[in-house]
Amino acid sequence: MKGYAMLEIGKTGWIEKEMPACGPLDAIVKPIAVSPCTSDIHTVWEGAIGNRHDMILGHEAVGEVVETGALVKEFKPGDRVIVPAITPDWGSLEAQKNFSMHSGGMLAGWKFSNFKDGVFAEYFHVNEADANLALLPDCLDPAAAVMLSDMVPTGFHGVELADVQFGDSVCVIGIGPVGLMSVAAAALRGASRLYAVGSRTKCVEAAKAYGATDIIDYRNGDLVEQIMEKTHGAGVDRVVIAGGDVDTFAQAVQMLKPGGVIGNVNYLGAGDYVRIPRVDWGCGMGHKTIRGGLMPGGRLRMEKLASLMETGRLDTSRLITHKFNGFEHMEEALLLMKDKPRDLIKPVVMI
Ligand code: NDP
Ligand code: ZN
Repeated sequence: MKGYAMLEIGKTGWIEKEMPACGPLDAIVKPIAVSPCTSDIHTVWEGAIGNRHDMILGHEAVGEVVETGALVKEFKPGDRVIVPAITPDWGSLEAQKNFSMHSGGMLAGWKFSNFKDGVFAEYFHVNEADANLALLPDCLDPAAAVMLSDMVPTGFHGVELADVQFGDSVCVIGIGPVGLMSVAAAALRGASRLYAVGSRTKCVEAAKAYGATDIIDYRNGDLVEQIMEKTHGAGVDRVVIAGGDVDTFAQAVQMLKPGGVIGNVNYLGAGDYVRIPRVDWGCGMGHKTIRGGLMPGGRLRMEKLASLMETGRLDTSRLITHKFNGFEHMEEALLLMKDKPRDLIKPVVMI
């Protein structure tokens, strides 16, 4: 079968591979719609998780089940499914500790396009299908539903990590597709003032539609100064980081009130250290909490997030700015994510 792969750091291309084999708990799925992720860019062009050879890329898909293992109870060939980016081993000790995304080691619940072939292939393998797949509701458009694989659960997780409460002032740093879903989630969680940080016009328009009350363009002056001015020197209760780099943490600490929480979902592709400013961190005593996490997967979470779309509480179609028809456009879509033209939020490839 054909797949679009990372050949080595900095190099991608089409390759031929054997069709994956289905274990007793597993499923083989063929994609209906897929999307490239900024994480694929960190992995290939920054070599952020080390080298990978001929590994098929992609971890965002909805698809059709073509084969199930003998012990799979909930799914059968022909079912249309949402495939989460993170597919843990649910029997692991880490999963029993409520950190399924780290099953088998740190970040090891992230299998597709990390250490196993991903979804940019004619067929792909899903471990523990009953726990890791969710049925695609008939009323959902497959292109919009691909956002449930990663953008929705990741953006929402940033807000969970920052523990946003009713009436909190929140700053979401980065309003690409992930940060936009953090804006939507913070609004659903009852944020009051909701500052969205970014510069691309399409993203700014979407941030307003998802509930941002104020837009801050970090290219128009110091980000912290802009937030401090808007909050009359008080800062914000919560910060979600969904963009920027290792230096963004210092800014987040500076704009955070004592007792506040930072939730990071940004994948730090480069830089060896995250530096925390000593004085702004209350000389170590400011009760400013910093959390960072990989999105949780699992069928229950996927079904719950899908129900937000089914009931009209969340509309992900606004994220999709570029839609391709045909597998052969995979490379074009991936390179869009790399080059980030200013009219891009997220591309989807319909297979
Ligand atoms: P994008 O590149 O589309 O968006 C990044 C955003 O950050 C843009 O709004 C950009 O602004 C803004 N930004 C860039 N530099 C700065 C800066 N110095 N200060 C403030 N804002 C800045 O990324 P995605 O939304 O696709 O992904 C966000 C991150 O989430 C990526 O690192 C991705 O790898 C990661 N990720 C993490 C996952 C997890 O489970 N934790 C899962 C999936 C993705 P501008 O408008 O100017 O472009
Ligand atoms: Zn991703």
